Amino acid sequence: MKLFVFDLDFTIWNAGGTWCDSTHPPFAWKEGKLKDQENRWIYLYPEVKEILSELKAEGHMIAIASRTNAPTIAKQLLHMFEIDHFFDAREIYPGSKLTHFDRIMKELKVAKNDIVFFDDEYRNVEDIRSIGIESVLVTNGLTKDLVKPYLTRTIARDLPQSEAC
Ligand SMILES: [Mg+2]
Repeated sequence: MKLFVFDLDFTIWNAGGTWCDSTHPPFAWKEGKLKDQENRWIYLYPEVKEILSELKAEGHMIAIASRTNAPTIAKQLLHMFEIDHFFDAREIYPGSKLTHFDRIMKELKVAKNDIVFFDDEYRNVEDIRSIGIESVLVTNGLTKDLVKPYLTRTIARDLPQSEAC
């Protein structure tokens, strides 16, 4: 079992080319697209729901570490996208992500070696790497390819037949 920790803006979702703190709620679904009051289209990266389901199916834990200035908006979006139930911990507020991780590790009682973190901002990746946690820079939204190396089942499947047993 591992703990997967994800950032929100530009990792899990794209809030219409900006951060969710710059959107204008309330949000509403229009023709299958989530829009804010300025008709900005906010979307999950295409593989996110599948990734979250797969992690849960493998028995992993999932947490959010977001330093957004608009926690209320972020929580609304988690609800609107119907992904809120996937997360075992949600640390959503401004500040250094070191604080977010400190709280996540205490809450979920997971050791640093069993955690992997995904974020689109290098400063966050750098902060979390500095305390010895595996951290992955996300350049174009979260994808299966980024998560795959950490999925035990996928790794086992990828082994040649002779080595698998
Ligand atoms: Mg981000």
